[in-house]
This record gives sequence, structure tokens and C-alpha cells, in this order.
Amino acid sequence: MTALDIAHGDITTIAVDAIVNAANSSLLGGGGVDGAIHSAGGPEVLEACRELRATQLPDGLTPGRAVATTAGRLPARWVIHTVGPVWSRNEDRSHILEAAYRNSLLVAHDLGARTVSFPLISAGIYGWPVDDAALRAVTALRGTQTSVETVVLVGYDLAAVDALRRAVAQA
Ligand code: ADP
Repeated sequence: MTALDIAHGDITTIAVDAIVNAANSSLLGGGGVDGAIHSAGGPEVLEACRELRATQLPDGLTPGRAVATTAGRLPARWVIHTVGPVWSRNEDRSHILEAAYRNSLLVAHDLGARTVSFPLISAGIYGWPVDDAALRAVTALRGTQTSVETVVLVGYDLAAVDALRRAVAQA
């Protein structure tokens, strides 16, 4: 069974085999955690993303899907890029958010990663309420059986860490 840990702070400083990026569909970089991962990983990560766009993903990465690249200068070996849904008041997109976690973990499994870190996907620029984002994360990760030994869920601020703690106790 996969252990589920919670950490606080900048995901790029945590040593794991694979780090999940809350990217956007273009895969060509952005703000938030995406910007931090590209900045810490260096130009190799962006180059690998451009290569994916030029070959397998000409239209970009669909929300809910996941794909791996090198991690460049990061302590991790791989970055797993996924795209969360933008929060909508009118439409329930939680299945897409859960798919982003599930598919990222399955990519990590296929790569042979033993430790994987996740940010709170969609809970920043994409506007997802933090408590529900944390609950979806924990539910999706617990419901996916893989050979990954440890998942680290990273809250960037204390509100995110608290939401993750509540979700682990509740889910
Ligand atoms: P999205 O577009 O999917 O909402 P964001 O990057 O805007 O992605 O935010 C996702 C979550 O990542 C937010 O909770 C945000 O506070 C957090 N975050 C931003 N930078 C970092 C970082 N360096 N390490 C960990 N989490 C981060």
C-alpha cells in the first residue's frame, strides 16, 4: 500500500523520484508551481516539453492526462506534467481533477518511481476551493493501486497543509 505523507513549502526542494507539475495544456510553462518547476529544472525541462508538443502532443495535453519528461536540474529524475480542470461553479469537473492525480500516479508507476510528490492541482490560478481540492487529491490517490511506495502531498502554505491534514483524516 502506498504511504501518503504531507509536506509544507516549495515542492522543488523535496527529494523524490518524480515530481508532479500542475501544468497548463500548452506544456510551455506558466506561473505558480509550473513556473517554479521550470525555473528549478532549467531549460532541459522546457526543451523536453517542446519536443513532446512537436511529436506526440501537437494539440497540447488534455486536462486529466499526464506525461513525463526529464527533471533537468531538479533533485527528482522525472517531472510528470498533468493539467487540472479550471474550477467551475456551474459544472462538476471533479472527475477530471481526480483523473489528473490517478493518471500521474500511473505514469509514476510505469516509470518505476518509488517516491512521488504532488502539488495541490487546480488550487491556485485555476481557482479550485482548497478544501475540496485536498479531498479530491486524497480520494484519487488512495483509490489508485500502484507500486509507488510513498506519495508526498505538498501544501505551499499553511492553509493548504491544514486542508490536506483534514482530507487525510476525513477521506
Ligand atoms: P493551477 O493552475 O493548477 O491552479 P497553480 O500553480 O496556480 O496551479 O497552483 C496549484 C497549487 O500549487 C496552489 O495551491 C499553489 O499555492 C501551489 N504552489 C505554487 N507554487 C508552489 C511551489 N513552488 N511548491 C508547491 N506548491 C506550489
